[in-house]
Order: sequence, then C-alpha cells, then structure tokens
Amino acid sequence: MQMLENYIGGKLVEPIQGKYIDNVEPATGKIYSQIPDSTAEDLEQAVEAATKAQPAWAGLSLEERATILTKVANTIDDHSNELAKAEAVDNGKPFSLAKSVDIYRSSANIRFFAQAITQFSSESHAMGNDAINYTLRDPIGVVGCISPWNLPLYLFTWKIAPALAAGNTVIAKPSEITPMTAYLFSKICIEAGLPAGVLNILHGTGPSIGDPLTTHPKIKAISFTGGTATGAHISKVTAGMFKKLSLELGGKNPTLVFADCDFEDTVDNVVRAAFANQGQICLCGSRIYIERPIYDKFKQAFIDKVKALKIGDPLDNSTQHGALVSKPHMDKVLSYIELARQEGGRVLTGGKQTTVNGRCQNGYFVEPTVIEGLDNDCRTNQEEIFGPVCTIMPFDTDEEAVSLANGTQYGLASSVWTSDLKRAHQVAKDIEAGIVWINCWLLRDLRTPFGGVKSSGVGREGGLEALRFFTEPKNVCIKY
Ligand code: NAD
Repeated sequence: MQMLENYIGGKLVEPIQGKYIDNVEPATGKIYSQIPDSTAEDLEQAVEAATKAQPAWAGLSLEERATILTKVANTIDDHSNELAKAEAVDNGKPFSLAKSVDIYRSSANIRFFAQAITQFSSESHAMGNDAINYTLRDPIGVVGCISPWNLPLYLFTWKIAPALAAGNTVIAKPSEITPMTAYLFSKICIEAGLPAGVLNILHGTGPSIGDPLTTHPKIKAISFTGGTATGAHISKVTAGMFKKLSLELGGKNPTLVFADCDFEDTVDNVVRAAFANQGQICLCGSRIYIERPIYDKFKQAFIDKVKALKIGDPLDNSTQHGALVSKPHMDKVLSYIELARQEGGRVLTGGKQTTVNGRCQNGYFVEPTVIEGLDNDCRTNQEEIFGPVCTIMPFDTDEEAVSLANGTQYGLASSVWTSDLKRAHQVAKDIEAGIVWINCWLLRDLRTPFGGVKSSGVGREGGLEALRFFTEPKNVCIKY
C-alpha cells in the first residue's frame, strides 16, 4: 500500500501523529493508498518553514523566480503521462481528459504566472504640480491555498502559481479525496529545485487540517476553491481575523440555446458542457434552456449524443465518461435523480448507477442523465448536483431566458448559443454570472478574470486579478 507524505521544508515527511486516511480508487471501489491525516502540529512545522523561506524567495529577482517556476512547469510536462494516469486513478476521470485538460493546464498555469509576474506593473497617480503617488505591490507573506477534488492538480496549481510568482510562500492543502497528484507534485518541486519551504503541502480533511490552516494567525490570505457551504464556514471562522479571502464556490450554470444557433455545433458543445468530467466541473452547464421552436429537435439530437457517450474504465483510451469521485458523492447524485422524479421530472435517458465489467465492476459509475418537465424553482433546478445530471426546459423570449438563467442563488458561469450578435451582447450583459461564453464553453484565456457572483464566490482569480490578490498594495505619496 502506497503511503503518501506531507511536503514540509523541502522534504517529504510523515504526519507527526502518525495517523492516515484511506484513499480509494473510484473506478474500482478499492483502497489503494493512504494519506496523512495532518493536524495543527504538522501545520506549525509548515508555517515555520514557510516563514523562514519567505524573505529569500521574495528577494529573488523576478527573472530568477520565473526561471525556477518554469522549471517546475517543465518537470510537470516531463511526467505528464504518469500524472495523467495518477489523476485518472485517483479521481475516476478518463485518462484522455486528464492528459489533455488537467495535466496540460497544470503546467500551463505555472508557466503562465512565471511569465505574468515579469509583466506585472503597478499604477502611479500624478497630482498636478503638487505630488506624485506610486503603488508598491509587496508579497503578503505566508498564504494558504485550499483546493477541491474535481480538477485536482489543475486547480491546485491555479492557486499556488500566482501566490509563488508574487513572492509569497505557500501552505497548500489538496482535497483528501484526490491527494495523489499533489503528492507527486511535491516530488516534482524537489526535482525541479524549488527552494525548501517555499511550498509546503499538507494532506488531510477539513476539520483536521483545513480549519487550523484557515485560522492560523500567521497565514494572512486564504485562496479557497470548493463548495459554497465550506466557503461560508471559512468566512465565519476567519471573521475578525482580517485575512484576505478569495472564495471560488459552487454553481448551477445555465446554458441558453436560441433557435438561430449553429445546430450541430451547439448540440456537440452542450453535451460536452453538461457531461465533461462526469458533470463534475464547477463550470458545467446543468440547466439547459432551449428556445421553443427547436425544443423537440434539439432534445432528440441531444439525447442521441448523450446516449452515445462511452462509459468505461477511466484508463481505457476510448472512455468518454468515467466514474464519479466517491461512493458518498455517487449516492448524493443518485438521490438528486430520485428527487427529480419525486418533483415530477421525466428521465429521458440515464437515471441510474451502471456497471462496467471487469476490473471496474464495483466502481462508482452513473449514467449521463437528462431530465425534463421540471419548473425552475424546484430543488433539482436550484441546488448544485455536481454530477452527470442535467435538466432541459423550453423558453419563448430572450427576457424569459435571462430571467430563468438568473433564477438561482448561484452566478458562476453560463453559455449562450446564438448567431445573433446583438442578442448575444444583450444577454451577456444581463446574465448574472462571472463568466459568459458565447458559442463556446470552457474556452479559457488565463489572463481573464475568473470567478463568480452571488453564492458562487467572492473575488476573482486569473491574470492580474490573482497577482493583485496575492500582493498587498501600498501607496507612496511624494511631494514635489
Ligand atoms: P469542499 O468544499 O467539500 O472541499 C474543498 C476543499 O476544502 C477540500 O480540500 C476540503 O478538504 C477543504 N475543506 C473542507 N472543509 C474545510 C474547512 N472546514 N476548512 C478548510 N478547508 C476545508 O468541496 P469539494 O466537494 O471538494 O468540491 C466540489 C465543490 O467545489 C463544488 O461545489 C464545486 O462547484 C466547487 N468548485 C468550484 C470551482 C470554482 O472555481 N468556483 C471550481 C471547482 C469546484
């Protein structure tokens, strides 16, 4: 049985209390490794290492820091097959997706921020003939990064990279449900020569290590991605501690399909938007609104494509739909399908757990599921399911489409499918979301602001927004 270790002060170390948690491969249901169940004692060592390392790390020139981070990115690429396989085993996602999206983006994240920090600038404000102001942007110090299980290394590096690039040292906690690639990443950092203590990785659960991390007085900023309830908890327990918080939370994203869309392209992409990563991407479009004149035609074409998705062993190259991440999560998703039925929904395809024969016969596979006949206010359409379940509903006017799209507590992402440019602009303006994709989905430019409104979060990641978050501005005013 493989035993994972924490990464503290440049070394792989066992948890001080010697306690471990089982790590399960979701495609087989088997325990295949154990991870440290870290506690506040491990955190103290990490804080000490990060505090000691920070001045020298911040003292490097931008080019030196960028060079080291680029080496970390290149080392990810050197190990991309191993990492993609580890991600597929740990999470249940198809290997092909892990390789082309997760691992590809992990090194891209680090490379992007290595370059971005060399282009980062701050503002100055002249006061006529009286004075000039300029703004310094110093690193915050030691910061905490906490990430979820759905895009494990992708989201882990999305936080760590800007924090490190800006000159902070980091204590990071991956999800205890998918810890493997963060562990392999600690080995990559050692191989790439990241100085000791600059990044420290602690494994464990929210209560055992998440709470001590977010409330530690020496950790001045927390960048968190995960569920809205956990985000609310972190806001509460850190209230009064005056930490900087960036919270990237849940979603219930709308997909608006207008009758004038490019039909075939839209069907293909709406299927992808609903079911990529088994519907476990915070940006997945799970409420699909279709303009009435094409409702029946779209519904049929959509269902045909969904039925054709190949469910299988995540390690099989032809698999398009893998396992859900855990048994509790699968049970939650199945309970929502049951709820949808109770609320009067008709399951058009899918609707149950399925078996993949062979090595994966005990895995957590759920059929891609499409439901119709529900109104916008029912729980199925209001609560985040975060699995391979979507609903379809007709609409008649642009105003109604926008009102349905905006009719939840969430506001993370959305996609709009139309060939009418004027409508696209108007709908984009009116949708309450941090991200609007027009005729595309998950097309990402890492320079753009990323995040949600309403219960989907506070703050933005990406590009300059992330570098601003991980630095403290100081205004200097000089009288002429
Ligand atoms: P989660 O909130 O259960 O866990 C996220 C992380 O927080 C994990 O590392 C977990 O161990 C940690 N955590 C749990 N309790 C904690 C506590 N008390 N203090 C500190 N840390 C704690 O979320 P999840 O189930 O891992 O991920 C799924 C959720 O993440 C979904 O809601 C999804 O929409 C959201 N998500 C959002 C984005 C985004 O960018 N907005 C991206 C991906 C996922």
